[in-house]
Amino acid sequence: MHLCDLCRDLWRRYGVAAKIHIQLENRLRIAALEEDQQMLETLTRETEGAEKIRADLREEINRHERSHSAKAVWG
Ligand SMILES: [Zn+2]
Repeated sequence: MHLCDLCRDLWRRYGVAAKIHIQLENRLRIAALEEDQQMLETLTRETEGAEKIRADLREEINRHERSHSAKAVWG
């Protein structure tokens, strides 16, 4: 699979988003263990937000990769 500049940029952003998501999930687990209700609520919201950003970027990558294979077929 050929990676163009946009591919690379999308994957880079996806990497950052995935890392943030994982970090938040870890903090969420710790807050759950410590039964820190307030932290748990804050982190749950933040984790959901990070998860959405990650999923959106993954979808963007899928769409972009389809445009590559379309070019391979029609170009
Ligand atoms: Zn590309």
